[in-house]
Amino acid sequence: MTGPGPVHWLFGDQLGPHFLRPSRDSGLERDTPLLMIEARSVFRRRRFHRAKAHLVLSAMRHRAAELGDRLTYVRADTYREGLARAVGEGPVSVHHPTSYAALRLVRSLPQVTVGPARGFLMAMDDFAAWAEGHRGRRLRQEDFYRWVRRDHDLLMEGDTPAGGRWNLDHDNREPPPREAHTLPVPAPYRPREDEIDEEVRHDLDRWERDGDVSFVGRDGPRVFPATRAEARAALRRFVEHRLPAFGPYEDAMLAADPVMSHSLLSSSLNLGLLDPAECAERAEAAWRADRAPLNSVEGFVRQIAGWREYVWQLYWYFGEGYRDSNALRHTAPLPDWWDTLDADDVRARCLHTVLAQVRDTGWTHHIPRLMVLGSYALQRGWDPAAVTDWFHRSFVDGYDWVMVPNVVGMSQYADGGRMTTKPYTTGGAYVNRMSDLCGPCAYRPGDRTGDHACPYTAGYWTFLHRHRSRLAHNPRTAQAVHGLDRLPDLDELRRQERSRGDAAP
Ligand code: FAD
Repeated sequence: MTGPGPVHWLFGDQLGPHFLRPSRDSGLERDTPLLMIEARSVFRRRRFHRAKAHLVLSAMRHRAAELGDRLTYVRADTYREGLARAVGEGPVSVHHPTSYAALRLVRSLPQVTVGPARGFLMAMDDFAAWAEGHRGRRLRQEDFYRWVRRDHDLLMEGDTPAGGRWNLDHDNREPPPREAHTLPVPAPYRPREDEIDEEVRHDLDRWERDGDVSFVGRDGPRVFPATRAEARAALRRFVEHRLPAFGPYEDAMLAADPVMSHSLLSSSLNLGLLDPAECAERAEAAWRADRAPLNSVEGFVRQIAGWREYVWQLYWYFGEGYRDSNALRHTAPLPDWWDTLDADDVRARCLHTVLAQVRDTGWTHHIPRLMVLGSYALQRGWDPAAVTDWFHRSFVDGYDWVMVPNVVGMSQYADGGRMTTKPYTTGGAYVNRMSDLCGPCAYRPGDRTGDHACPYTAGYWTFLHRHRSRLAHNPRTAQAVHGLDRLPDLDELRRQERSRGDAAP
């Protein structure tokens, strides 16, 4: 493939048409030859969920088939080997990659043009300037979100937010409907596998057999889009049929309905098959056409233009050292049953259900990630870097940029409060209120000690006790810390938690 002109290297998360738009700053022209590299070493470095490996390889190979002769698809052991084979020391251009490791790699190449990032709404320099303007004050996602809404004219009526309010969370966050086992909404889009998936399965089987790589989790029929056409169909189905119920139930959990009204679009967005602007704009169009209520549409736009974008920007703004933050000095290793997604070992019904969802699909929605998985890890004092790595490996939508802030900052409070104002953890009462998971559980959310003590309730109090001095000074947790003084059974509770150790609850 070596020739005099530059070759444009597309990473496996740069798969949509917006990554092919010509532009001078990225060195990409209409006919620039394209390169993709499938590096086996990536799968050797971490024990990934097999459904994730399947999805990424399937998406890359589908894209290669679509791009035909313009693209050279190299299967190599490492990226460097693939580059050496495809371009030698020749010139390469790339869009800004999505991890520090990949950025270091491309910057080390002898002749390289690194263009701005694509697939996000705001430029990194603009974010840095915005954040510098907030120097001395806490960065708030809400302020950032309003700025993005104004800048992109999303859900705006002139200078004011549509409906007169920026934030409609008050109308959302309801518990699941009583007595319902599933939400009464049409099922999400599901793709159909083809011969490329078959080839991927065959390769993964072979790699495992050769002892070259090993995976966790089940690789059942592929449930997430691998092509632009599939991703667009998934977006269409979500907006037309499922968006109206998104807002009210976005924080609720049902044992028999893991997806509820969530969009399942994260893996498509993170593979670059969808652009966030098109997702937000389609949702807004549904509201303007009176096909979805404002609280649901605002809730969804907030996820995409607020949270997703904020997390991306913070990853770069906080710098590479942020991943090593460990403000609470948590160092415990992850137990094996957790690491290998062994849900059958777990009796606590919420954790059993959610871990089984991850084992079976590599996905669970936001609240199980934060308030069931992340909260359990935080309460037990597990090493935040190991927790981040676990989420990265086990989720189909997990990439470095999105896992580091979400786990280190939002879920494990390892940054000491740079991203959130308080640790996200609660006792079993929260799970009980927001789900149908507690009813038939072997444990009782109200019990702190004894045979039926809920591991979340007990873990919550021992967590508060362990970090008492820090949390007593935080206005958002001070009252909860005072509650410790009223506990008659704190010593027993601590003894019980010590003897539980890292056994599955
Ligand atoms: P929906 O609930 O339908 O939301 C719509 C979209 O909003 C998502 O597709 C996603 O693109 C975006 N979004 C919402 N919140 C976030 C957020 N905090 N960060 C980034 N995007 C967001 N999301 C990932 O894409 N990859 C991850 O690896 C990831 N890891 C997470 C780990 C933890 C501990 C937590 C608490 C959250 C994590 N999230 C991650 C955010 C969120 O849980 C998922 O984006 C969401 O559950 C994906 O399902 P969905 O597409 O149905 O989302």
